[in-house]
Amino acid sequence: MSVLVVGSIALDTVKTPVEKHTDQLGGSASYAAVGASFFAPVKLVGVVGEDFPASEFAFWKTRDIDASGVQRAPGKTFRWSGEYAWDLNTRETKSVALNVFENYKPELPESFRATEFVLLANIAPSLQSHVLDQMRRPRFVVADTMDLWIETTRRDLDALLPRVDLLILNDSEARQMTGETSLIRAGRAIRRMGPKYVAVKKGEHGALLFGPDDFFSCGAYPLEDIHDPTGAGDTFAGGVAGYLAGECEGKVDFPQLRKALIYGSVLASFNVEAFSLDRLRRLTSEEIEDRYQMFKLMSQFEVLE
Ligand code: AMP
Repeated sequence: MSVLVVGSIALDTVKTPVEKHTDQLGGSASYAAVGASFFAPVKLVGVVGEDFPASEFAFWKTRDIDASGVQRAPGKTFRWSGEYAWDLNTRETKSVALNVFENYKPELPESFRATEFVLLANIAPSLQSHVLDQMRRPRFVVADTMDLWIETTRRDLDALLPRVDLLILNDSEARQMTGETSLIRAGRAIRRMGPKYVAVKKGEHGALLFGPDDFFSCGAYPLEDIHDPTGAGDTFAGGVAGYLAGECEGKVDFPQLRKALIYGSVLASFNVEAFSLDRLRRLTSEEIEDRYQMFKLMSQFEVLE
């Protein structure tokens, strides 16, 4: 089963205390699409400018990412620039230039509209809803969001939530959205706003998953070397949605979501090992499977005979 991914496609400038990279491939949909492509064919929807490298289209082809929903518009590609503090956890957005994103409204090719799994990667919630408006009853909708939309377009976000099966957000966003200090209370409160399931990411401390009757908590894969945390959340969401599309024949259930969360964490852990999508570009399914098995072993607390 394939997964439709919509979101931003960007040229990012990222600075860490030791390195700076300029105009490298980024954007929520870029990370999410490649993450998902390890598990299922992807249909990508987004917009790029005239300055966007043609080589990326060739790369998408090698990963079974159908980019016929990516429009090339007159003008420049969306640009974002961020700088990390020494802990590589705190990030400051230095600049955003919407460029071709300014007047963009995603239009789905006819052949994309019946896709059963959808990942609404991080973009304005009104655009996420506009994508759903064009789809024929998708089976499972995953959505990501960010502090900017919670702050500035809360009504649009609230309107989207009942249409979402799984909402993914990070701990500070969950607190911001609910005013709750406890993440458990926050996760439950967000579920009451509409999504059937809610995943709360806690960065290097793992993730929580809330369902109608179930709860799951997992750690993050412990990494010694982090080079660029950009896109970790998007890659996580891509891994989750891709795994569900690739593995769920029937209804998506909680045990499958638990596994999807681990695959998402595994992919995110690879992504931060290098700048931009450099690690994902050379990642193999065998490496993913090895790390998944390692994750399983590390999470066991009773020795099995
Ligand atoms: P993350 O590290 O998961 O928060 O994702 C970072 C990516 O999000 C970068 O590659 C940016 O290009 C992209 N991004 C930053 N701000 C926005 C925005 N307002 N809308 C869509 N994408 C964004």
